[in-house]
Amino acid sequence: MSLSIIGRSIAESVTLKLNETAAILRAKGEPVIHLGIGEPKSKAPLDAIVAAASLLNTGEIRYTPADGIPALKQAIIRYTGDMYGRIVSPANVIASGGAKQAIMVALQAILNPQDEVIFPAPYWVSYPEMVRLCGAIPVPVLPEDGSFYPTITDIERACGSSTKAIIINSPNNPTGVMYSEKFISEIVDFCEKRSIYLIMDDIYHRLVFNGKKPISCYNFLKSGIEDSKLIVINGVSKQYAMTGFRIGWAVANSKLITCMTNIQSHQTSGPSVVLQAAAVGAINGIQSGVNNLCITLQNNTNVMMDQLNSFEGVRATRPDGTFYCFVDFSHYNKDSSKLAYFLLDKVRVITVPGKEFGLDGYLRLSTCGSIKDITQGIERIKWALDPNSPNELFIGDRKLVRDWL
Ligand code: PMP
Repeated sequence: MSLSIIGRSIAESVTLKLNETAAILRAKGEPVIHLGIGEPKSKAPLDAIVAAASLLNTGEIRYTPADGIPALKQAIIRYTGDMYGRIVSPANVIASGGAKQAIMVALQAILNPQDEVIFPAPYWVSYPEMVRLCGAIPVPVLPEDGSFYPTITDIERACGSSTKAIIINSPNNPTGVMYSEKFISEIVDFCEKRSIYLIMDDIYHRLVFNGKKPISCYNFLKSGIEDSKLIVINGVSKQYAMTGFRIGWAVANSKLITCMTNIQSHQTSGPSVVLQAAAVGAINGIQSGVNNLCITLQNNTNVMMDQLNSFEGVRATRPDGTFYCFVDFSHYNKDSSKLAYFLLDKVRVITVPGKEFGLDGYLRLSTCGSIKDITQGIERIKWALDPNSPNELFIGDRKLVRDWL
C-alpha cells in the first residue's frame, strides 16, 4: 500500500486513543479510573439543547454558508465584544468544526511547506501534527528556566527567517498555567513588529481559578484588526461542556477569514447547522454553567494538589485554570509512556504520558472526574509506585497484591 509522506508522518491522537481504551476496559467490567480525560462531565447548557431540538423539529436541516450561519457569527461578535472588548464584523469571523478545525484551516491558510511554527512546550498534542499536515515544521520551545512559563526571550531565540507563526495557548493544556499579562503583551508586540502570525488558542480562557480573569490579547494590539496578523481561537467545547457538538471559531482579518472559508468550504462545507444552532443557544443563553464549572474544577484541582503534595517523589505546579495538572513523575520513571502503561496495567488508572506534550517524565492528570476519581486514582498510583505504601490494595472487592517493588 502506498501512503502519502504526510499521511505516514502523522501519529494518532493519543488522548482520543486513551478514551477508546478506557471505554473498552469499562465495557469488560474493569474498574477503570480515567484521569486522562479532556472534557468536563457536566451537561450541555439547556439553552443549547433547546435551540438544537427546535431546529431539528422543523425537519429542515440544510447546508449553511461555509463560514457559519449569521446568528452564530453575531453571537461570536457579541462574545468577542463582551469577553475581549473588541468589536469585530461578520467578515472577521469563521465558525468551524471545533477549535481544532479553526486552527487547522488557519494553518492551511498561512503556511507554505518548510515554514516554521513556534509554540511553547509542553504543548497541546495536536499542534505539531497540524503543522506537519501543512508540510511545515513545528518548533516547540521549552522555557529555559525549567518552568512552564515561557519568556519572550525563549520565543525570540527560536525565531528565525522561516518563522511564520507562533501559537500561544493560555491557560495551557497540559500544564494548566496561565501566562502573565506581561508575556501576552510582549508576544502580541513581538509578532506585530516582526509581522508574524500569532494564533491565540483561548479555548480555556474562562476556565480560570481564584478570581483570575481572561486576558484579552486585543488590549495590546496597536494596529486595527484588518492590518493585524492576530488570530483568536475559541469555542464551546470546554467552557460549555459541549465537546461533542464540535463548534469552534476564529476571529482575524477579513482577507484571512475569506481564505480560511474557501479552504473549509471544500473540506466540510462548514459545521452542521444543528450544532451551530446549539452553539448560538449556549453563547447567548444563561452563563451560570460556566461559573459552576469553574467552581467545580477549582475545587477538584485543590483536592488533586493536596493529594499530590503528600505524594513523596512527585512535583506538581499549581494550575491557574483548565482541568489538567502536569506532574513530574521522573523520580519513579523517566519514560512517561512506560509509566502510563504500567499504571493502566497494574491499577487501571488512565493518565496521559508527558512525552506526547513534549516533556517526558511527566504525566498529565485530569480533574474532570469526581472527587472520588481523583482521590482514589492518586491513591492507586501511590500504591503502585511508593514502596512505603502497604503491600495490598482493595479495588472494590478485588484484592491487589504488589509484587513489583
Ligand atoms: N486547543 C486546545 C489547547 C485543546 O486542548 C483542545 C481540545 N482538547 C482544542 C484546542 C480543540 O477543541 P475543540 O473541541 O473545540 O476542537
